[in-house]
Amino acid sequence: MSEKTILILGGGVGGIVVANELRQKLSRSHRIILVEKNADHAFAPSFLWLMTGERRPEEITAPLHRLVRSGIDVVRAEVTNIDIARRQVRTTQGALSYDYLVIALGAELAPKLIPGLEASFSFYTFEETQKLRKALSEFMGGKIMVEIVLGEKKRKVLVILQSDWFRAGRVDDSEMTDQILVVQLELAGGESYRGGEILIEKRVARN
Ligand SMILES: Cc1cc2nc3c(=O)[nH]c(=O)nc-3n(C[C@H](O)[C@H](O)[C@H](O)COP(=O)(O)OP(=O)(O)OC[C@H]3O[C@@H](n4cnc5c(N)ncnc54)[C@H](O)[C@@H]3O)c2cc1C
Repeated sequence: MSEKTILILGGGVGGIVVANELRQKLSRSHRIILVEKNADHAFAPSFLWLMTGERRPEEITAPLHRLVRSGIDVVRAEVTNIDIARRQVRTTQGALSYDYLVIALGAELAPKLIPGLEASFSFYTFEETQKLRKALSEFMGGKIMVEIVLGEKKRKVLVILQSDWFRAGRVDDSEMTDQILVVQLELAGGESYRGGEILIEKRVARN
């Protein structure tokens, strides 16, 4: 088989695992390129502990080049366009051609699409979680709304927040339900908007 170029977009969990697996399985005559916009990889499951201050940023991040096997070319650039017909990807560092393409760019939250939610915090990205950590550490009282969007992950957040504050003596048992509002949101449709309206009503905002 002639030499092939495998282009992997996104150096998150998915991109790193695919790149490393392929490097192990394929002969070195095939080129593997990993494109990632950030120099460091942040381990998302630990964002919850970053949020509560139980991990420091440097404990949950590592330079991407240290996480990939040798023989993988890491390109630090932002992907701006994918041209499937021409088998070419445009990046902020120039165009890259490929024989095989892996898209592992993850997902992004779009809080601006829900009225009221743009003023909220999230623990979905490294940067956002650090802002949330700061806000929580400065929080002296009042109400906090925790949205639950399907699944168990955010329920876990609620439990962590409660136990953290309980341990820190910030709230006692009787205050807990008063301090934290839980809103069930569906991922799409009218319910999301209702969540946004509640956020505005309760004036849960950054400032
Ligand atoms: C708080 C939290 C806890 C979690 N806990 C768990 C858990 O316990 N178990 C579990 O299995 N999963 C957990 N997850 C989910 C898990 O982190 C994700 O499923 C996983 O990270 C998805 O991997 P991915 O490679 O698809 O995307 P990501 O890890 O999001 O990687 C996408 C990468 O693409 C890069 N990128 C995006 N756009 C561009 C662009 N235009 N140009 C260049 N690069 C770009 C990003 O910088 C990023 O590095 C958790 C997530 C969070 C937020």
